[in-house]
Amino acid sequence: MIDKYNRKVNYLRISITDRCNLRCVYCMPKEGLSVIGHDDILRYEEILRVVKVAVKVGIVKVRVTGGEPLVRRGIVDFLASLKTMDDLKDISLTTNGILLEAFAERLFNTGIRRINISLDSLNPEKYASITRGGNLEAVLRGIETAHNVGFSPIKINAVVIKGTNDDEILDFAKLTLEKPYQIRFIELMPIGEAGVDNNDKFVSNNSVMERINRSYTLYPVTENRNLTDGPARTYRIKGAKGKLGFISPMSHHFCKSCNRLRLTADGHLRACLLSDEEFDLKGPLRAGCSDSELEDLIKMVIAKKPSGHNISCDEVHIKKCVRDMHSIGG
Ligand code: SAM
Ligand code: SF4
Repeated sequence: MIDKYNRKVNYLRISITDRCNLRCVYCMPKEGLSVIGHDDILRYEEILRVVKVAVKVGIVKVRVTGGEPLVRRGIVDFLASLKTMDDLKDISLTTNGILLEAFAERLFNTGIRRINISLDSLNPEKYASITRGGNLEAVLRGIETAHNVGFSPIKINAVVIKGTNDDEILDFAKLTLEKPYQIRFIELMPIGEAGVDNNDKFVSNNSVMERINRSYTLYPVTENRNLTDGPARTYRIKGAKGKLGFISPMSHHFCKSCNRLRLTADGHLRACLLSDEEFDLKGPLRAGCSDSELEDLIKMVIAKKPSGHNISCDEVHIKKCVRDMHSIGG
């Protein structure tokens, strides 16, 4: 469906759980506990129904995220069910990779080919500190296994945090020389825990690029851009097997071309990551609404999609959204 700002809304991000086996400092409170009760989480069949109706409204691309999607029981069967929906042209998964080694083959067998793994440090101690206890080796093994079973492309998301991992920018860039992965640098957003104590932590992607440019020349990658390309600006170091992506929600707003809706773990539909306006689908679903009523609700949310978020880099210390990222899904 085309919204009132002439954007084609065709992408749904689904958070299937707000629970996680990590507690990343910018995402989850230390205590981490899920605030959403078990009964309030959308059941898989409810999510599938939303997707089935969303497809009628024009959704062709879905990303499954969380929380950590691999901690929710039944994830493999759920993905396999999504894969049976012919009108969905693209299904992908975002994971922290901790359980990926064990899951990679079963995930691949569902037919899904695209996976994003979040990895903010290549140093074991620092990784454990950012994630409050995560095991870097497990993630690296997970990425390797995903590659070996055939996932492609493999995208690695690194949120750059000043004074924490910005000294590793070149190490991440160098990884693409040998590995066919896309390393994507993501700007820290004023959401979740990062919105509480974020004053000196923001690093703009212009400065990330500048630092890489001091050692390497970056060539823009323009070939083969398609449905699966998000808002990342993509580059390659000459001769590298992989690519570098820059996702800059703070310094280069991509609102004008935003094609996304987000379904929260507890069944609310959001038209903008950084706006707290959201619409309950779970209530109507459980009250027995018809498919056409559900369709009207989804259309109404798209009609209300704001033109943009207007947050600037100077404002990163302001918490812009009440919900935490782990229940929206990033
Ligand atoms: N647990 C999975 C993972 O970490 O990949 C999926 C959910 S996580 C919320 C999705 C993405 O959101 C991760 O790449 C994470 O780094 C990113 N994220 C969370 N909080 C963020 C923030 N405040 N600013 C920028 N990215 C954030
Ligand atoms: Fe968990 Fe992902 Fe949030 Fe880290 S970013 S706490 S892995 S949901």
